[in-house]
Amino acid sequence: MFNPDIYRHDFPILSQQIYGKPLVYFDNAATTQKPLCVVEKIKSGYLEQNANIHRGVHFLSERATEAHEAARQKVQQFINANSSNEIVFTRGTTEAINLVAFSFGETFCKADDEIIVTEMEHHSNIVPWQMMCERKGAILKVVHFDDNGVLNIEELRSLLNEKTKLVAIAQVSNTLGTINPVKEIATIAHQYGAKVLIDGAQSIPHIKVDVQSIDADFFVFSAHKIYGPTGIGVLYGKETLLEKMQPYQGGGEMIQKVTFEKTTYNELPFKFEAGTPDFIGSTALAEALNYVEKIGMANIAEHEHQLLCYAQEKLSAIEKMRFFGNSPKKSGVLSFLVGNIHPYDMGSILDKLGIAVRTGHHCAQPVMDHFGIEGTVRASFSFYNTKEEIDILYNGILRAQKMFKN
Ligand code: PLP
Repeated sequence: MFNPDIYRHDFPILSQQIYGKPLVYFDNAATTQKPLCVVEKIKSGYLEQNANIHRGVHFLSERATEAHEAARQKVQQFINANSSNEIVFTRGTTEAINLVAFSFGETFCKADDEIIVTEMEHHSNIVPWQMMCERKGAILKVVHFDDNGVLNIEELRSLLNEKTKLVAIAQVSNTLGTINPVKEIATIAHQYGAKVLIDGAQSIPHIKVDVQSIDADFFVFSAHKIYGPTGIGVLYGKETLLEKMQPYQGGGEMIQKVTFEKTTYNELPFKFEAGTPDFIGSTALAEALNYVEKIGMANIAEHEHQLLCYAQEKLSAIEKMRFFGNSPKKSGVLSFLVGNIHPYDMGSILDKLGIAVRTGHHCAQPVMDHFGIEGTVRASFSFYNTKEEIDILYNGILRAQKMFKN
């Protein structure tokens, strides 16, 4: 039986009191807390190993370079990429998607080509594609979901054709919690010659990811969602594609030779890493990946599933409770509204009780439009959360209901 208490000691922030109440942190989909080992890695990186990488011949620079490249290999192993050349460090999911939208778009897309996204995407998997379509005269198409939050795969099939260049889809919705069948979607898209970008921001902390098994052409995620630091993320891309794509940004490190007449570019993955990378962040990300691996992704998934089932059952007993996202395959995200209580009011009251939830549109306004609402309250779970914390949430919601006579 999984015991979250064993791991809570690794997260000193969780033992804080907020307004005199124990903190209940249910905002994990926005960002996860950091274990001591990750914080220590950042600290020792700056105190013992700080030197700019790749160009130096001195001891510290070589050690920092080795650590950064070892971190790349850790990421490669964690998502089962074929080669570390396929791992590009970015600032996060958002930058990784912008990179692909620009570089893939410039290299492979022309007027009247089509890109498919879904109605449940985070804005960062919509807007970069809109910008690219505007630039290239391409067309953005949308696959919708039903009222349970399940994607319409038949609609996807009907939208695909020889003009479709890429399907961009979240593996897990940050608002509905839906786990999308990305492997099946990749197979369907590939039948039409389309490439697939998978937004793994919400799947990477919860599900064992294998990019080769999914047959993803691109897979992106942020370190801060998987217990790593902010400011660093990953773009996985198939080597054959990345090789052909033109660079995203110009600058140091991404070049082979610069003259005023012509510049040639560096090999993969450096072609896409202009400027000084976050070489301390990369090692802290590797530490975070080691940490979750030690706990076991299967254990994490199972415990979070238990929490979700418990929360769904408990909270559904509350009068006028409405859940948004009831897919049979669902991650530990619970979006809800209670009667006419505005999500912001609910969030503020829960906050005063020490409970951190997120309120609003969660950067997924099309999801809100689908249901004709402005926003929801979202509780999102991690392996360090407990059933007792869900009981506290339940009591908090009842309290808010009483206050608003709703
Ligand atoms: N995609 C999804 C599904 C997300 O949930 C998020 C963040 O919440 C993002 C993309 C953007 O991630 P970041 O802000 O770390 O770039």
